[in-house]
Amino acid sequence: MFNLFTQKSQTASFPPVHLFNSESRIDEEFSPLSEKEVRIYSCGPTVYDYAHIGNLRAYVFADTLKRALIYNGYTVNHTINYTDFGHLTSDADSGEDKMMKGLKREGMDVSLESMRLLSDRFIAAFEADIEALNILPPTQFARASEYVKEQINLIQTLDEKGYLYQTSDGVYFDISKFPTYGRLGNIDIDALKDGARVETNTEKRHPADFAVWKNGELGWDSRWGKGFPGWHIECSAMAFSTLGKQIDIHTGGVDNMPTHHNGEIAQCESATGKEFSKYWMHSEHIQIANEKIAKSEGNGLILKDLIDKGYSGDDYRYWLLQSHYRTKANFSYEALDASKQALTRLKRMMFIDWKDERGKLSTEKQLELVEIINNDLDTPKLIAWMHDMIKDESLSTGERKELVLECDALLGLGLSDDPEEGLKALGHVAFENLPQNVQELITQREAARVAQNWQEADRLRDALRLAGYEITDAPEGTQVTSLEK
Ligand code: AMP
Ligand code: ZN
Repeated sequence: MFNLFTQKSQTASFPPVHLFNSESRIDEEFSPLSEKEVRIYSCGPTVYDYAHIGNLRAYVFADTLKRALIYNGYTVNHTINYTDFGHLTSDADSGEDKMMKGLKREGMDVSLESMRLLSDRFIAAFEADIEALNILPPTQFARASEYVKEQINLIQTLDEKGYLYQTSDGVYFDISKFPTYGRLGNIDIDALKDGARVETNTEKRHPADFAVWKNGELGWDSRWGKGFPGWHIECSAMAFSTLGKQIDIHTGGVDNMPTHHNGEIAQCESATGKEFSKYWMHSEHIQIANEKIAKSEGNGLILKDLIDKGYSGDDYRYWLLQSHYRTKANFSYEALDASKQALTRLKRMMFIDWKDERGKLSTEKQLELVEIINNDLDTPKLIAWMHDMIKDESLSTGERKELVLECDALLGLGLSDDPEEGLKALGHVAFENLPQNVQELITQREAARVAQNWQEADRLRDALRLAGYEITDAPEGTQVTSLEK
């Protein structure tokens, strides 16, 4: 279940939000294009396979951005797209369409219907992942195959304005007509030309020219023949259709920046003559043992792999947020174990020890936490600050609990879940719901502990483990966790 998420009451005037803009390469004070809403577009998954745990960082990052803006009082209109055709195995215009690759892998025939079936399956898996990760659903998911007409119209506009040329395999955008091409990431276009390997497509005028339309046996009819729109044009058309011609923030992973996002900028700004996105934000990659995550490398872990091993989406999210979104992070099970342990301790504190605590939100402390998140989404610092607050004896327990709830509105770790549901998810079982024999073993162990017969107490703990239950002695009494979880 998605957590209900409401804007927090703003008790004081907050400091401005600062975000690192990949275009200017500096931290900038955020100011929205319109008072009404902040429009965010996030490049979404190519749904030919499961998203790996690295891919998921891009969406946890966009979610953190969104939570921070909502916390600061903004209304957010957010689109995540599904690329269900047109993304070739190379981000440039060579290689195989990833969906075709998926169809072959599954032994499915090559047709638009099969493509739909294949993407339905991976869209459902992705939506289960984002729910498990507590990612707030976007205002809209946009599926590329449902915006083909809009993509064709946009290509037509660019054609009429003279930005395109046709080759034997499709229609290309001529980057020489867009003088600021490559400004995102400051790409040296001339060096690209000099350093280009033998260009496979000799009809291209410049190696960085990119396809807006590819001819193909599979696809849709257009004035350029049968085929499909290019990957970059998908995002441009879906951003225009769902959010408008100018947006506030565009997000993606760092690998999207050089080709995909420079392509989007060139198309959008050539079509409208206006700046497309005011801010560009990119999350760094997750690695495993310092290696790139890729199915082909045999390390393509997916969230379900972690869940099957007994970790929760919250555990993985906690691990992710301990690194800043702009730094590379190296995944390991040891690190995930530490995250799980820390988060479980926090949850037990919130759901058991502090269940009935109530307190006032300290304005002064709230300003401290806002300052942290408004500094380019500094989640590692916010987590550390939350731990400091928990230990801060100058505050009442109720006040500390309130601050944890505020942090959770920004971090989305499940700390504000209903205590009963939260405990159930941790595997806790109430005494009266335990099988009779297990209840008896626990009662005997309690008696052994009272008699200080530690050997017998340990023997009974082992017997309980064999029966599938772990016992923890907490100040409020013995806690029982099912090991089945
Ligand atoms: P794709 O489904 O290949 O289009 O990728 C989905 C998102 O995941 C994109 O925003 C990529 O930039 C991002 N991404 C790809 N690999 C990683 C990784 N190892 N770590 C973090 N993000 C990644
Ligand atoms: Zn995109």
